[in-house]
Amino acid sequence: MYSVVNILFPQIRQIFEDMIRRFSILRECEKVLFLIIVNKIFRMKLQLFNISNFKVDGGAMFGVVPKVLWSRIYSSDENNLIVLTLRSLVIETDEHVILVDTGWGDKQDEKFFRHVYLHGGEGLTEGLNRRGYKPEDITDVVLTHLHADHCGGGVKRNEGGTGYELTFPEATYHVSRTQWEWAVKNNVREADSFLDENIIPIMDSGHLNLVDEEGELFPGFSVRICYGHTPGLIIPVIKYKDKTLVYTGDLIPTVAHIPVIWNMSYDIGSLKTIEEKEKILEEALNGGYILVFQHDEHIECCTLEMTPKGIRAKEKFDFKEIY
Ligand SMILES: [Zn+2]
Repeated sequence: MYSVVNILFPQIRQIFEDMIRRFSILRECEKVLFLIIVNKIFRMKLQLFNISNFKVDGGAMFGVVPKVLWSRIYSSDENNLIVLTLRSLVIETDEHVILVDTGWGDKQDEKFFRHVYLHGGEGLTEGLNRRGYKPEDITDVVLTHLHADHCGGGVKRNEGGTGYELTFPEATYHVSRTQWEWAVKNNVREADSFLDENIIPIMDSGHLNLVDEEGELFPGFSVRICYGHTPGLIIPVIKYKDKTLVYTGDLIPTVAHIPVIWNMSYDIGSLKTIEEKEKILEEALNGGYILVFQHDEHIECCTLEMTPKGIRAKEKFDFKEIY
């Protein structure tokens, strides 16, 4: 489906442009204006793909929420494990091909991955390849944060296996300064998630850009910075056509995490997470934004509505339906 859309996009754009050029009633300056608008509307191409599924303890994903409640919404296996996806966004603009998050990667040994239960998905470079991108085409990698399931794929073993190199050799890697400084300092609580081999080679490559503040990183692509899950978590907010998309990352990993107190036990500051979720959910509700979920096994996107219990998902749909 994605590939059909990709093939059709330039053609639809061409039809619009031809129509405007032939419209003889329009004055020349009006035609130029319309062409600019058409180009603005169609200039960004967004695609979502799942790098891989993995499994994680259901209790850890829902913190203090009892299993009797969360299991009605998100099913688990006999070992209490639930399946999460690793959806990444790839965004093509006039000057950039931006990849948001890179999954686990494959640098660690079998013992490490035995506890991750990787299965399904398209793979990182394979998923990009299917959408027409080689690793060299990626100009920018935005890492929401440096937990291993979000940044590991950005660094790979080199040819001889003697060291590490960037998976996307031409790309600038963007990480918030707060998250970078927090991760390299490391801490016992997140030690299993901040792995040197995922992080240090980025700095050594000279391709690291530290993001200091919220705002537009690329045209139509802004970042918010949150502190509850881990200090310096980037939440991308993207203007696409007439819509605003929020890639909710680990702030709201699944639809089941929309209620503000349904949070992961991985969060460093749960009260901060609640505050940050309240703020972004309220803004998203009022602005009619679309939430895009990185980790929800079943739901890719949703809109929001106010209910007597608070803000909840309204319409749930696949990313391709946004086109
Ligand atoms: Zn995380």
